[in-house]
Amino acid sequence: MNNAELTQRDLAVLWHPCTQMKDHEQLPLIPIKKAHGVYLEDFDGNRYIDAISSWWVNLFGHTNSYINAKIREQLETLEHVILAGFTHEQVIRLSERLVKLTPKGLEKCFYADNGSSGVEVALKMSFHAHKNNSKTKNIFVSLTNSYHGETIGALSVGDVKLYKETYEPLLIQSIQTPVPKDGSIEAAREAASAFEALCALRADDISAIILEPLVQGAGSMHMYHKEFLFLVRKICNKYDIHLIADEVMVGFGRTGEMFACQSANITPDFLVLSKGLTGGYLPLSVVLTTNEIYGAFYCDYNENRAFLHSHSYTGNALACAAANATLDIFERDNVIEKNRETVAYMGEKLERFKSLKNVLSVRQTGMICAIELQGYAPKERVGLQVYNYGLKRGVLLRPLGHVVYFMPPYIITKEECDVMMDVAYDAIESLL
Ligand SMILES: *Cc1c(COP(=O)(O)O)cnc(C)c1O
Repeated sequence: MNNAELTQRDLAVLWHPCTQMKDHEQLPLIPIKKAHGVYLEDFDGNRYIDAISSWWVNLFGHTNSYINAKIREQLETLEHVILAGFTHEQVIRLSERLVKLTPKGLEKCFYADNGSSGVEVALKMSFHAHKNNSKTKNIFVSLTNSYHGETIGALSVGDVKLYKETYEPLLIQSIQTPVPKDGSIEAAREAASAFEALCALRADDISAIILEPLVQGAGSMHMYHKEFLFLVRKICNKYDIHLIADEVMVGFGRTGEMFACQSANITPDFLVLSKGLTGGYLPLSVVLTTNEIYGAFYCDYNENRAFLHSHSYTGNALACAAANATLDIFERDNVIEKNRETVAYMGEKLERFKSLKNVLSVRQTGMICAIELQGYAPKERVGLQVYNYGLKRGVLLRPLGHVVYFMPPYIITKEECDVMMDVAYDAIESLL
């Protein structure tokens, strides 16, 4: 079996995500045979550093021996069981640990199986909690340039035109308030004032504001100051509006803190987690909420008050075992502390990019680095050129438009960082 044979078989029967399939008439598809640590290896024997953690999910490398062992162990005991009326040890243990690790006041865990579904759960719970408190609030607020997933509800609160525009007639009501325009505290205050002005007018209709704390991922790694989170929390309290923190991407240490909300010392009403939750192994998501929200649903059976939402694979035991193994590694290896070194190292290496004429700016929040290019029209698809260049040199970079970024697994070494960032530098220089 080689790349060409597998590509041919693939294209006969598969339709790939987020892809104009015709691109693959020129753009080679890459069949991966195996992976270990930060490396992916294809069927022709080429190796690639996974600089994007396989779409932002992988934390401790591919085929991590500890996580593998824990999943194997679980596989021999219980693979899956219905979570309505039944429960299991892995999901209980995971929930206890998440309640301890996340901001104070989040006490209950509701599971789904991907980030978008987690967002749907949070939106429905928010609306329903107000309803159970005899309030009708039909509108959600989100930030400009935000991304919350691809299902209809999640897409409705997102603001990336590329994904949303076509489906506009199908979407639920949402209003966008400006995201802070840059990382300064002034920009944070300005954006918070705009949100407050909106609340002053529409608070009675607004169920919740949903946001990606500190870094907007699919919105080209746009970063803002933590002061914004602090101010939004205050405004939400004042106007009885829920705060939904979508930490699907930034959770589990990406921003330097275990959870981004902790950088501003705030507790959201809903915290949505997925991606890194299982270390990048299996689909799982969870929405944590407060006892206050939980209490709004808790009463003698009445079908309109209970949260009758479910997914077949809710709280899957294998996925929970992977998540528990992931949390074991965080504890055992003191990961957040150790990452600070990698954060500093990437920060130093990022400086060099500023001297390139086609670089507009560089930015970093914890383990996420971004380099914004300038002077290219969208149809030039510079991102694609960087992607192709990276693959030839053994690095999987996947720019978002004209923003090149790094979001590597936490186990990346300095030497691997050197390769990843030097190849990106050469790729950007080669465009000049
Ligand atoms: C990826 C992502 C989602 C959607 O998660 P899926 O598992 O892809 O459905 C939602 N919110 C944010 C911030 C994300 O980065």
